[in-house]
Amino acid sequence: MRWLASLSGRQRLWLALTLVVGLVIIAVGAVRQGAAGQPPPVDVSVTMTAKQIAPQLGVTGKSLARELGLPLDIPKEKPLQELGVTDEQLEHVVHHLLGHRDSTLKYYAFVALVLFALVFLARLGRPDGSPAADRKMWYPRWPYIVVLIIAVALCGFALGKSPNPMEGAVKLFKSFVGLYPSVLDKVVAFLFFAVLAVVGSKLICGWACPFGALQELAFSLPILRKLKQRKLPFAATNAVRSVLFVIVLLLLFGVVGGRKGLVLYHFVNPFNMFNLDIETASVGITIVAAIVLSLALYRPFCQLVCPFGLLSWLLERISLFRVKIDRERCTNCGACSRACPLQAAEGRVEGKRLPADCFSCARCLNVCPQDAISYGFVGTKPRVQSGSP
Ligand code: SF4
Ligand code: SF4
Repeated sequence: MRWLASLSGRQRLWLALTLVVGLVIIAVGAVRQGAAGQPPPVDVSVTMTAKQIAPQLGVTGKSLARELGLPLDIPKEKPLQELGVTDEQLEHVVHHLLGHRDSTLKYYAFVALVLFALVFLARLGRPDGSPAADRKMWYPRWPYIVVLIIAVALCGFALGKSPNPMEGAVKLFKSFVGLYPSVLDKVVAFLFFAVLAVVGSKLICGWACPFGALQELAFSLPILRKLKQRKLPFAATNAVRSVLFVIVLLLLFGVVGGRKGLVLYHFVNPFNMFNLDIETASVGITIVAAIVLSLALYRPFCQLVCPFGLLSWLLERISLFRVKIDRERCTNCGACSRACPLQAAEGRVEGKRLPADCFSCARCLNVCPQDAISYGFVGTKPRVQSGSP
């Protein structure tokens, strides 16, 4: 609370405006979702064909066939029961596909959370005029924890699994093999998440993704502190998620296996937990493993598996706001590297061209004895406080 009391009048205005604008954005989202009304009821049975059922579920016949475990090229005019589909199978698939329907409100909630994160990191974290001797009070953890709890509660359990950044990436590639009626819709959804990753380094992952937030909250628990100081080598974790991504694409496009449409990520999609729809044992194991490992390891799912994590890491090169190092002040003392839960700060201090992912978590922003590290717009000089060494 000392941080809040130390904010200048201008910073308090920023805070108040950001909160008001964030609430307005969420209110607009709620109104738009309400205006769209309930989706039309689904009326399907196994006596109908894939061609009749698929449009009601917002997918193509191919996608429906894939969900039912049938070859993608089933005769679309044949009733499903003649293809051996049972009522239970169809009911299960319908339930699952309806869970994929996007919540309009969630898109707005993501924007509001990212907006708050950006203003906090770039404008509010350091009270204006606060001397470097007070830097321990900069960037307090509690606003971050509050936002993470909102991300899990609102963008996760309250509004369901879809949309989310990981599926934004996966559905983009699925649309390229004809699993969705519109490729354009999926391109736009992916671009939405990509923009929120670019505006500030991985802000959508660091501050708003519900499964990312759940891992971050688990990691933030004050236990296993010694283990938390160990970091997996970025070269290894990035290689794992990159190889997985290539294998997924080869299977999805039928280059390997000879059958298009297999989506390996479905077997490890932790976002299903927000619909209480644990489809397979592998999904349940992924969720439990990721959360338990997060008690000692920073965001294991993001580091090792998530395709959006990989793509947004590439996009970090063009992020507009990011952690910046003032090379003239930096003495390479290693304080920021020790505070960073990944090899991200270290890579930036060393000036690596492709450093590890930075989730904009702010842990490094109040530890530098030289005040050489800050969060700001890429085109400006790092901000230095009065009273800095
Ligand atoms: S990398 Fe992590 S935070 Fe980002 S979309 Fe994937 S699960 Fe969410
Ligand atoms: S501590 Fe690491 S991940 Fe967090 S903001 Fe700093 S560099 Fe990025």
